[in-house]
Amino acid sequence: MPQGVAVFDEQLRLRLWNRHFTEVFGFPVESVYCGARFEDVIRIIAIRGDYGPGDIEEHVRVRTELAAQFKPRSADHTGKDGRTLLIQDQPLYHDGRVAGFISTYTDITERKQIEEALRYKHSILETVLTNIPGGVSLVDGALQVVTCNEQYKQILDLPDELFQPAMPALESIIRYNALRGEYGTGDVEKQLTAVTKMVRGCATRTWERTRPNGTVIEIRGTPMPDGGLVTIYTDITERKRAEERLRLTEKVFENSPCAIVICDRKGYVISVNPAFSEITGYAREEVVGLHPKMLLSGELSEAVYADMWRSLSECGRWSGDIWGVRKNGEAYPKWLTINAVPDEISGGHSHYIGMFSDITTRKEAEERIHRLAHHDALTGLPNRYTLEARLAHSLDDARQYDSRVAVMFVDLDHFKTINDSLGHAVGDRLLIEVAQRLSGTVRESDTVARLGGDEFVIVMPDFASTTDISIAANRIIDSFADPLHVGAHEFHTSVSIGISVFPDDGESVEAVMRSADTAMYHAKALGRNNFQYFTPAMNHAANERLALENKLRHALTRREFELHYQPQYDMASQRIVGVEALIRWRPRGGGLVAPEKFIPIAEETGMIANIGTWVLQESCRQLREWLDAGMAPIRMSVNVSARQFRQKSFPDTVAATLAETGLPPELLELEITETTAMEHPQEAIRVLQSLREMGITLAIDDFGTGYSSLSYLKMLPINRLKIDRSFITDIDKDANDEAIARATIALAQNLGLEVTAEGVESNSQLDILRANGCDEVQGFHLGYPVTADRIAQLVPASTASVISLSDWVSRPR
Ligand code: C2E
Ligand code: CA
Ligand code: CA
Repeated sequence: MPQGVAVFDEQLRLRLWNRHFTEVFGFPVESVYCGARFEDVIRIIAIRGDYGPGDIEEHVRVRTELAAQFKPRSADHTGKDGRTLLIQDQPLYHDGRVAGFISTYTDITERKQIEEALRYKHSILETVLTNIPGGVSLVDGALQVVTCNEQYKQILDLPDELFQPAMPALESIIRYNALRGEYGTGDVEKQLTAVTKMVRGCATRTWERTRPNGTVIEIRGTPMPDGGLVTIYTDITERKRAEERLRLTEKVFENSPCAIVICDRKGYVISVNPAFSEITGYAREEVVGLHPKMLLSGELSEAVYADMWRSLSECGRWSGDIWGVRKNGEAYPKWLTINAVPDEISGGHSHYIGMFSDITTRKEAEERIHRLAHHDALTGLPNRYTLEARLAHSLDDARQYDSRVAVMFVDLDHFKTINDSLGHAVGDRLLIEVAQRLSGTVRESDTVARLGGDEFVIVMPDFASTTDISIAANRIIDSFADPLHVGAHEFHTSVSIGISVFPDDGESVEAVMRSADTAMYHAKALGRNNFQYFTPAMNHAANERLALENKLRHALTRREFELHYQPQYDMASQRIVGVEALIRWRPRGGGLVAPEKFIPIAEETGMIANIGTWVLQESCRQLREWLDAGMAPIRMSVNVSARQFRQKSFPDTVAATLAETGLPPELLELEITETTAMEHPQEAIRVLQSLREMGITLAIDDFGTGYSSLSYLKMLPINRLKIDRSFITDIDKDANDEAIARATIALAQNLGLEVTAEGVESNSQLDILRANGCDEVQGFHLGYPVTADRIAQLVPASTASVISLSDWVSRPR
C-alpha cells in the first residue's frame, strides 16, 4: 500500500503496521514494536514539535483521549518537515465489541500543494475579476454561468435578481436580453438559437454590440477546453466616439481647402495636408522634418518671425497677412494662422498647427471692389466718392498755400435725347468717348471724374489766373468740335460747362460743387455749348428754380393750371378760324407764372407728360363745350412738347381724348416745334403719320428757329408752318426778316402747306404778311390769349354773321 497503516488494539497498543507507517513519521526503529503504546508513539511526534508549541503531555493526552473513543476520524496533519498526512481512523470490531482501530496515513503533501496553488490562482482570478474595468462572465460546458463580476452586470444592466439565488443558465440571460431588445427586434426564440450558436462557435471572437441605450460594447469570447466560455465585455462608447472624431478630423485635414501644417514642440514639421502641397507646390516628403524657419524663409522677416514665436509662447496664437513663396518661386498672398496646442503634462506646447490659404483671388476681388468703389465702372474715371476725396485734399492744400482750386461741371448737351432714342448701349459708348476726350484735354494734375449720367467734373488744383481756367474751358469746348463716333453713328455733340472757384464760390467741397453745378445749368440755359463762371445771382436763380420745381409738383392736383386761348385769324375771310390753347399757372398764394418759366422745368423733370395730357383733355373738353353751346366750329391748336411727343403712348392719348370728347378730329391741331420734329425725323414722321391718320391737323411751331432739313420737311405729313415771332417783330423794319418771312411763305405754298404768322403786333406787320400771301395771323395786335368765356363772346354762334377782322383790329386791347 502506498499509505502507512497501523492497527492499535482496544488497549491502544500497536499490533500491526507497515513500512510506510514508520517512514511517513520517520520513527526511530526501536520505538515501533508490537505492543508499543499509542501515547508513546504520539509522544515521539509531539516531542518532535509536529503538533506545534505547547505542553507536550497535553498534546499526547488530547490525542490519546480522542483515540480512546474509537470513532471514525479523519484529519490532516502537517509535520515539521512541511509534509502533510491525511490521517484516517476507523474502529475495528470483533464479535460486536470494539477491538481497536486501524489508522491509515496518506501523504497528501503534493495534493495539498496543488490545492494551495489552485486556491492562490483562484484568489488572483477573483481579484482580477473584481477589479478588471470590463465585465467578465464564465460559462461552463453546459452553458451554465459559473461566475461573473459586478461590472458584467453593470455594463449589461443585468439585475441582481437574475443571479439569485444561484448563478443562472446562460439561456436565461440571453432570453432576458432578447426580451428587452438587446439584439434588435424580432423573434426571441430565433435570437436565442442564434446567440447560443455563436456562443458554441469554438474560436475566439470579438464583436461589437450597440445597446438600445446607445452605448457600444465590445464582446470578446474565448472558448474553454471544457466547452465553456470566458467572455469579456468592454464599454467602448467613448473610444468609438473618439475614433469617429478622429476620422472626421482626418477628413477635414485631408480635404480642407486650407493648407494645414502640424509641427512638433520644437517646430519640426510632422505632417502637412494635400492643400498645403497644392498651394505651395511642395510634396509632403519634401517638408516633413523641416523646421518652419526654412519653410518661412523668404516669407517672414526676422522681426516678424521673432514676433510670431513671442506671440505663440505668450498667447498660443499668431496670425498675419504675409506673402508666401511657392516652390516655383512665385509669390502669393496668404493669411497665416498658427495655433499652439497646450501640453497638459509639461505645461508648454505639444504641437503647433499652422493654417493658411492662398488669398490671391480674395486680394484680386478686394482690388476689384476697391476699383469699383472708387471708379466709375463704365468709363474707368474716378467716381463721385474719389472725386470728393481728392477735392477735399486739394482744398486742404489750397488753404495751406493760400491758393485756389477750380471745379468744372461738364454736361453733355442733348445726351438724354441720344440715350432715349438710340438706346443705352450707344449712350454708354458715347460716354466712354466723351470721357476719353475730356481726359485728353486736361493736365496731369487735374482730375476728371464722372458723377453719373452725362455729368463730368474736372478739378483743377493749380492755375495762375482765371484766364487759365477759361483757356482750359475753351479747349474742352473746342475738343467737341470734331464729331464723336460710336459705331456707324456720328455725333455732333457739345458740352455746357459751369465753373466755380475755391474759396470765392464756396469754402467746402459741397459748396464749390454746388456752385459749379449751378453755373452749368446757367450755361445750358444760355443755349448750351458754352461755359459760365458761377455768380451769386445764379445761386438765387437756382434756388428759385428749385422752389418752383417743388411747387410745380403739386400744381396739377391742386388745380392750379388754367388755359387761355389766343385767337387765330384767317387773312382772307378775316374770321376767327381757331384758337391756340396756352397754359397758365397760378400757384397758390402767388402770381401768374409764365409757361416759359415752368414748361422747361416740367420737361426736364418729366412732369410734362401729365401736364400735357391735362392740356389736351381740357382744351378738347372746352371746344366740346363751346360747340355744344352752339358756337361756330373753330380749330383748337394745342402745343405738344418734345418729350410729350416722344412718349410712346402719345398717339393713344390723343385718340382716347378725341373719342372721349367726340370732337371731329379736323378741329384739333397739334403744334410741335421745328426742333422737336427735326431731332429724330424718321421717328417724328412715323408718329406724325399716325396722328394724321386720325384726321388731326399738324403744325410746325416756331418755324425758322431750328435747323430744318428741307428734304425732311418735305416728308413730314404736316398741314401748317407757323413762322416764329422773331421774324415778324422786325418784318416791317428789317429787310432780312421780311425776306425770310416771304421765303417761308413761298416755301410753304410750294410744299402745299398753310402758313400762320405768330406775334403780329402791328398793322404794318399785318400788311406785309397779307401782301406776301400769309394764310393766317395770330398776335397781340389781333387778340391776346384770353379766358374761355371771352372767346365765347368773340366767336359768333354758328348761325351768326361774320365779324370782320378789321372790326377787331380797331378794338381797344
Ligand atoms: P408758343 O407756342 O410760341 O406760343 C405763343 C406765345 O407767344 C404765347 O406765349 C403767346 O402769349 C405769345 N404771343 C402771342 N402773340 C404775341 C405777340 O403779338 N407778341 C408777343 N411778344 N408774344 C405773343 P405764352 O403763352 O407765354 O407761351 C409761351 C410758350 O410756352 C409757348 O410758345 C409754348 O411754347 C409754351 N406753351 C404754352 N402753353 C403750352 C402748353 O399747353 N403746352 C406746351 N407744351 N407748351 C406750351
Ligand atoms: Ca404754339
Ligand atoms: Ca410759336
